[in-house]
Amino acid sequence: MLSSFLNNNMASKTFHVAKTIFKHSQPYFYPVINGRRFSTAIASGDNEPSFLDSVQIYFNEAAKISGVSEKTLSHMDAPDCSLKVTFPIEVEDDKVEILTGYRVHHSRHLLPVKGGIRFSPRVEEQEVAALAALMTYKCAIVDVPFGGAKGGICIDPKRFTLAQLERITRRYTVELCQKAFIGPGVDVPAPDMGTGAREMAWIMDTFRQFHPNDVNSIGCVTGKPISLGGVRGRNEATGLGVYYGVREFLSYPEVQNATGLSEKIEGKRIVIQGFGKVGYWAAKFFEKNGAKIIGIGERDCGAYNPNGINIEDLYDHLVKTGTFQGASDIDIIDDTLKILELDCDILIPAALERQINLGNATKINAKIVGEAANGPITPAANNILIEKGIVILPDLLLNAGGVTVSYFEWLKNLSHMRFGRMTKKWDELGKSKLVELVENNVGRHLTESERKSIVQGAEERDLVYSGLEDTMVAACQETRSTAVTKNIDFRTAAFVNAIQKIANVYEGSGMMFMA
Ligand code: NAD
Repeated sequence: MLSSFLNNNMASKTFHVAKTIFKHSQPYFYPVINGRRFSTAIASGDNEPSFLDSVQIYFNEAAKISGVSEKTLSHMDAPDCSLKVTFPIEVEDDKVEILTGYRVHHSRHLLPVKGGIRFSPRVEEQEVAALAALMTYKCAIVDVPFGGAKGGICIDPKRFTLAQLERITRRYTVELCQKAFIGPGVDVPAPDMGTGAREMAWIMDTFRQFHPNDVNSIGCVTGKPISLGGVRGRNEATGLGVYYGVREFLSYPEVQNATGLSEKIEGKRIVIQGFGKVGYWAAKFFEKNGAKIIGIGERDCGAYNPNGINIEDLYDHLVKTGTFQGASDIDIIDDTLKILELDCDILIPAALERQINLGNATKINAKIVGEAANGPITPAANNILIEKGIVILPDLLLNAGGVTVSYFEWLKNLSHMRFGRMTKKWDELGKSKLVELVENNVGRHLTESERKSIVQGAEERDLVYSGLEDTMVAACQETRSTAVTKNIDFRTAAFVNAIQKIANVYEGSGMMFMA
């Protein structure tokens, strides 16, 4: 049973001091409480390990049982290269602000490296490094043949006009071009918090100016608008991947036994923190498949309706007014963090890192926490949740739908052709012939809509959804298999699988320069 192997694992778990990989990163020591080790923080995530150190702690735990040699692990662990740029932007007449941007390549064992670009006032070197490391492991888990990277600019995008945002994005891209930190064969960014298709289009256009003869220049970034080489299904990919992942884990008997939940999505009570690209689409797919979204948290407040929130209505209201306040058919929760403590079946943090920490972990009332955001649970909170019997579906697996479909977009850009264009009509013809044969033999003719549903060839979006579903299900099954075999939790299992796959590339390619 999952609960027993989780508990067995946790009982034997000991944290060691997080290894420092950045010189300003502090090691953390964990006091032992009731036989378990916790951070020295009592009430908030602020005194707990940094996000970077949290990733390190999870990596170390998995590394110990991965069977991979120390020298390969130490190479894998350290970020390959890190870029920090500062550049000026004119905000008003005669007034200039100096902005700071980052791009970290965690592992270039496979090229290009891949990872989002974040615009947020919280962006700093350690956060970017942690996200880059997660990208390395995430790509390995879903068999996307890329290394891991991440980037960001330390700005609050809401403070800038559209024209200023365009200038900032283009200027940052110029820096990336000059330092060879972008290109279809080197580094392919994507959207993350605070960025979207619009910013990706600006990045692509800027890169194109620097590489006018590169026939593949459009593949320098993913998450673009469809008209500029984007792929259908990318907008919703991360949220849809979260849905596929939760559905898959719910189908495992050991998860049902540990949580008391049935395998059905229908009727499940879901709470989501963050109603942006990931949170909105995850909510849409859960709602479409019969779940009730009973709570959603945003920056300023939360929305609550025990009978289920109408997702499209609330989203329209948020887009129009910038807040949930004043929306119909919901109660407002003023303290937005309280949304995380609602009694529910599945809690989906889809906003920021370190939202579930020593300050609130004991108050979490969900049976499953599905990490749609990167790093939403601190290591100490992770242990508390597991001890409470809560099943955690880890970020590096659950939110990998975005990078999976980004990979499809990159392939589309390199092939210069929409998926399905060469095969759709051919498939329809073959299926029509088969249907006719069956109709003639059984003596019944299909209605027009029956015929259409059977013979219709796949559109680009159908193929993307199908590829995404297959990828997520396979990655969940691999993770489950390692968790059961090694008697470990799903996060450690996902890390173990990633480490082993990356080690195969390192060792097989001779990257270690071994004697
Ligand atoms: P986004 O900017 O589109 O949405 C984030 C949302 O969270 C916004 O609506 C914002 O207002 C809200 N938010 C911010 N602070 C909050 C707070 N304190 N409480 C509640 N809500 C808050 O970003 P996104 O692309 O949806 O990314 C969300 C998370 O998912 C991030 O951790 C990101 O790294 C991760 N992620 C994103 C993708 C992707 O494809 N976009 C892929 C993998 C992982």
